[in-house]
Amino acid sequence: MERILLKTPRNRSFSLSVVAPMYNEEENIDVFLSRLIPILKKVTPNYNIICINDGSTDNTLEKLIENHKSNSAIEIINLSRNFGKEMALTAGFDYSQGDVVIPIDSDLQDPPELIEEMVNKWKEGFDVVYATRRIRHGESWLKKSTAAFFYKMINAVSEIPIPENTGDFRLMDKRVVVAIRQLPEEARFMKGVFSWVGFKQTAIMYDRQPRFSGKTSWNYWKLWNFSLDGFTSFSHLPIRIWSYIGIAISLFSLIYAVTLATYVIFVKGIDVPGYASLMVVTLFLGGIILIGLGVLGEYIGRIFNEVKGRPLYLISDLWGFEKKGITQNNESNPSGNKKGR
Ligand code: UDP
Ligand code: MG
Repeated sequence: MERILLKTPRNRSFSLSVVAPMYNEEENIDVFLSRLIPILKKVTPNYNIICINDGSTDNTLEKLIENHKSNSAIEIINLSRNFGKEMALTAGFDYSQGDVVIPIDSDLQDPPELIEEMVNKWKEGFDVVYATRRIRHGESWLKKSTAAFFYKMINAVSEIPIPENTGDFRLMDKRVVVAIRQLPEEARFMKGVFSWVGFKQTAIMYDRQPRFSGKTSWNYWKLWNFSLDGFTSFSHLPIRIWSYIGIAISLFSLIYAVTLATYVIFVKGIDVPGYASLMVVTLFLGGIILIGLGVLGEYIGRIFNEVKGRPLYLISDLWGFEKKGITQNNESNPSGNKKGR
């Protein structure tokens, strides 16, 4: 565990690693790389692009290999199956060696042109420069409003603030990446992880473009599960609130019981009809108890996932890492399992 992560000087020449997760992006790769590379060249001659093929079912990998052959700065991590964007990013971070690391979507929704501005901010002394979306082009009204609602809610309950309308596109100093590598959790809610590590952060604004080609792999069900991950990994409120709801209901029932008893004993005597009110109370409490159990279940399921301690991802092939002394099945590989158990 490295807890002391001191700042290194930033006026010398530096190296830059781009981390690009790719899932079925065959049609975007060439355009993406041809827009990205000139900008990187302008910023530093010492760059590399780590492309993670996240179990694509199209020709993404073949396209990447072609590109790697013509430019060795393009490196490929081929995961053994689809692990999801968060794990693909994690693999990229584990293998990145640049003084600055930039995760970016490969569908051109994150404009590579911003990298220059990010690097300038980094040189000014910021450790994290994240890109905040001013406008989200090409997204439906429903997506925009659910996203807005999500950010409101998560910031209301999360123990650390999470910047609104900010994706994974950002620049990170090496020490931030080293910090992130130490987080062992399976539920990698990156928006939260990025904020959790802290350091000196700043935002730059941009207009989010629609996807260049292909379609998003996020449907509403996936987004819902993604936000559940967010809530459960960065807040205990959903699980804690049940004690308070329980206390409130018990207090209310106690008062009700006393009034009822007084009424029966002193006013009216035994009153048999009461089916409706009994039913309502039973159903209401039953519902509340089930919701409480469901929330407990969410947390327990996640605890189960974490204690299994499985590797976060598995790599089946690497291209372009030989020069760094990383070869396949080499002991010195950074492995997906960073849990140290
Ligand atoms: N992605 C990935 N694995 C997945 C899904 C997506 O690596 O299982 C990559 C995808 O290729 C893209 C980025 O993550 O570069 C963002 O994905 P997408 O465009 O589908 O998400 P959105 O932009 O709609 O949030
Ligand atoms: Mg996208």
